[in-house]
Amino acid sequence: MSQNTAKQRTFRRLMGYIKPYRAAFIFSIVGMLGYAAVDTFFFSQIETLIDDGLTNQNSKILIYGAIFVPVVFIARGLFNFISTYFLNWVGFRVVTTLRQQLFDHMMKLPVAFHDRHSTGDLISKITYTTQQVAEASSRAILILIREGAFVLGLLGLMFYHSWQLSLVFLVVGPLIAKIVGVVSKRFRKVSSRIQTAMGNVTTTAEQMINGHKVVVMYEGQKRESKRFNDINNVTRNQNMKLINTQTLSTSLIQLIASFSLSMVLVLASFPQMLAELSAGAFTTLLTAMIMLLRPLKQLTTVNSDFQRGIAAAQSIFEVLDHEPEIDQGSKSLTRAKGEICFDDVLFRYDEADTPALDHVSFTVTAGKTLALVGRSGSGKSTISNLLTRFYSPQAGQIRLDGENIYDYKLKHLRRQFALVSQHVTLFNDTIANNIAYGAHGEVSAEQIRQAAEQAYVTEFTDNLPLGLDTMVGENGVMLSGGQRQRIAIARALLRDAPILILDEATSALDTESERHIQSALSRLQQNRTSIVIAHRLSTIESADEILVMEDGRVVERGTHAELLERKGAYHQLYRLQFSHETPVE
Ligand code: ADP
Repeated sequence: MSQNTAKQRTFRRLMGYIKPYRAAFIFSIVGMLGYAAVDTFFFSQIETLIDDGLTNQNSKILIYGAIFVPVVFIARGLFNFISTYFLNWVGFRVVTTLRQQLFDHMMKLPVAFHDRHSTGDLISKITYTTQQVAEASSRAILILIREGAFVLGLLGLMFYHSWQLSLVFLVVGPLIAKIVGVVSKRFRKVSSRIQTAMGNVTTTAEQMINGHKVVVMYEGQKRESKRFNDINNVTRNQNMKLINTQTLSTSLIQLIASFSLSMVLVLASFPQMLAELSAGAFTTLLTAMIMLLRPLKQLTTVNSDFQRGIAAAQSIFEVLDHEPEIDQGSKSLTRAKGEICFDDVLFRYDEADTPALDHVSFTVTAGKTLALVGRSGSGKSTISNLLTRFYSPQAGQIRLDGENIYDYKLKHLRRQFALVSQHVTLFNDTIANNIAYGAHGEVSAEQIRQAAEQAYVTEFTDNLPLGLDTMVGENGVMLSGGQRQRIAIARALLRDAPILILDEATSALDTESERHIQSALSRLQQNRTSIVIAHRLSTIESADEILVMEDGRVVERGTHAELLERKGAYHQLYRLQFSHETPVE
């Protein structure tokens, strides 16, 4: 498909978003046309004012004029209001729709999509790009219709009075348009450089502020200051270039306009012209010529605005067209017993050369605990990622209660798991609501409190004036790593799913936190199948089975005692990393 047809399709699709608001859109166009008509009409009356009013000394005309001017401006204001209001009304509706669609769609996209796109990029699509679509397209439409109609009106007026003199403008007009075109191209280039430079200013400042401690510790002040100074100056230079272009172009355009004025004056000095032209007609001509400059200048930017809008829309549609997570399963599942089986599973991440899981097989009987140990990057998290269908294996089968997990409805499958990971995601809400997040159906305050107590959350919330109703994060309390983890455990307790996937913390917590978390976790593991990415000796010792992973393969399996006896990979790992009760990684 050529670029142009792609653009046309994007354009048509974008128009589809305006369709429901057709009436408002037509209103705004009527407003624009009315506005241009009023302006043209206003200038057409200059002749009457000068010839009848001033030359013929008709005072009535002047009095009429006194009433005429405000009336014209009222009409102008009205049309301006109608066009701007309705155009923006439609524009913001479209922005809102696009935002909501993007937000909803991004939630449905597979994890692999999110892996490939940076968070900042996706967020700016929702916040900024959507706005760009509406702003750029509204501007393009407004200028094209309103200023276009005004230009036609003025040209008509000029030709009506004297086609000979108007021709002067037709010679000069395109020349000016050309200059404006070249200048605006340069403008765009410099502006985009300014944007990049401003981005650099932000990034550099952010790095310094975020890494403030490192900078002062390693005496990086001078280096950072120098780096910032360079970038700061680039921005200044580019801004000055913009100003130079602007000033030079304005002067140049005015010079050309002055030539055209000279030409008009020369032409008008011919005797037959002098006889034909009244003072009023002549003034109208000159004013119209001067008035034409501004809309013409604006019209040259229409295309670039339009292109900007289309490009922004294209980047939004790209996301919207991305296939959501596959969900072809049809089996319902209320509560699984919790038997998990990996049968010769082979999985490779999108762009990886080597498989992350290389023919992995294991079975966990319902209610038992499987510990995964191995160096970082050996494939432990990948196992949990496949279980929850974040990614699909290329070969082999994963079964839950004897059924392929792809046969279950995705929603039903995910309900079977509670995930407690090292990185606890808390939402900007109260602690209680964070605990209730993910629980099925209605939960009472009493249930939340119970879960909070069992997970030792109340240990620290009871000291807070608002207790469990304290807000988390920016406007509320700052929580320590251990406290966040306890909230995650309470959340999992309340969710009461038959299978627990636990990624133990690698970083050491203080002993108090550690003890609480340990006992909360063992409560959580009761009567559940657990898959634990283990970093603690105590977990490993009590696991029903341990899988030792290496480069995506299971190299050993068995209980702690069995594996120690074998004196193989596990024994080595144990001697190196577990024997002093230190974390694996
Ligand atoms: P572990 O949990 O044992 O530290 P992982 O299961 O996270 O190991 O990783 C296994 C392998 O897969 C590693 O080589 C890692 O680099 C790679 N990997 C993990 N996540 C991704 C991803 N989202 N995209 C591509 N490769 C990944």
